[in-house]
Order: sequence, then structure tokens, then C-alpha cells
Amino acid sequence: MSNKTFTLSDELHGYLLSVSLREPDVCRRLREWTAGHPWARMQIAPEQAQFMALLVRLIGAKRCLEIGTFTGYSALWVAMQLPSGGKLVACDISEEWTAIGRGYWREAGVDDRIELHLRPAVETLDKLLAGGQEGSFDFAFVDADKENYPAYFERCLRLLRPNGLMAIDNTLWSGRVLDETDDDVDTVAIRDFNRALLRDKRIDLSLIPIADGLTLVRKCMVSAC
Ligand code: CA
Repeated sequence: MSNKTFTLSDELHGYLLSVSLREPDVCRRLREWTAGHPWARMQIAPEQAQFMALLVRLIGAKRCLEIGTFTGYSALWVAMQLPSGGKLVACDISEEWTAIGRGYWREAGVDDRIELHLRPAVETLDKLLAGGQEGSFDFAFVDADKENYPAYFERCLRLLRPNGLMAIDNTLWSGRVLDETDDDVDTVAIRDFNRALLRDKRIDLSLIPIADGLTLVRKCMVSAC
């Protein structure tokens, strides 16, 4: 016995899902549709989506950000947790991918809570900041191109309210972060990003070994960490 997290066998992973996953039917159908997509590995795992949905509920989030929407699976889960009048600002650059999600969002009755911005996310985030929306978001999910993680992180941190929560995906990067000879641009970006977070005094953090690694960041009150 060890208190260290261990890698799940397929069998134990199946058990975990069998006793805890409560995936709404509309989410399951979108996930299954996306599983046949050439970029299916960009979709988050259902247990991760459910975990994020729980966090969104736990903090009573009303205003959320998503950087990297793909076919809209995580956006669907998050939007379904929001109260009426809640809003998710979803950022992506692909009309083709997000169009798939839109149909499911409509079917679930949450399309009016999702504001999709199809342009580079840095532009959208800068526009929100310029529009006076600093400190007005409760939750942010970052899951887009890894090289821009620092740019997304800085902007989302400003847009979050104090005590707001950010979740950043793929921070274990299939274990490639361990291999110092791996100089792939994404691997280097994730490795540098993780190191920078550890030193960052503006946040509390925890790296959760769920799926490909999910780092949770709480924005501290001004100099109160
Ligand atoms: Ca991801």
C-alpha cells in the first residue's frame, strides 16, 4: 500500500467510471461522436468533465471562461451547471469543430449561456480586459495550444475574481515532462509553465493526476496567499 497516486489499470479505470460517472445523455452522445474525430485525443475524459462540473457548482460559478473549445464537450458540461443568466465565454479558432458542439448545446438548452468567440483567444481575452471585465469571472478552463499557456494564464488570472478558480489541462503531458531530452516545443512549454506556476506567489495550486494532468489554481486576494 502506498499513499502515492498510481496509474490506473484499464480495469480499475472502468470500475471508477462504473461507480461514479453520471454523464448526461447529451454529453455522452457528443463524446461518442467526437471519439471518431481525427483529433479525438483533444477531448477531455468524461470523469474529468464531471470533476470540473462539480468544481463549477462548488464555487457557485456564474461567469466562466474556456480557452480551447474543440467540439464543445467541456463547454456543454460547464454550461449545464450554470444558473439561468450564467455565461460561458468560449474561445476557439475553428468554426468547423465548434459547429459540432453548437447542435448539442442547443439540444441541451444551454446555447444561450455560451458565447462563442472564433478568433485567437488572446485577442478575445484582451478585448474582455479592455472592456472592463477584469475580476469578473469565477472559473476558467485553459486547454488550447501549449506555447500560449503563459499568455492565457496571465489574462485569465486578471479576468478571474479573487478566489476564482482556473483549471489548466495536460500539465502532465503523457509523462513527457520527465524527459529532459524531449525538446518538442509543446513539452518545453508545459515544463516551463509548470515550473513558473510553482514560483508564482499570486496563486494557490494543486496538480491533480486525473487524465493527462489538471492543474487547479486559486487566485489569491491581493498579497494574501
Ligand atoms: Ca486537453
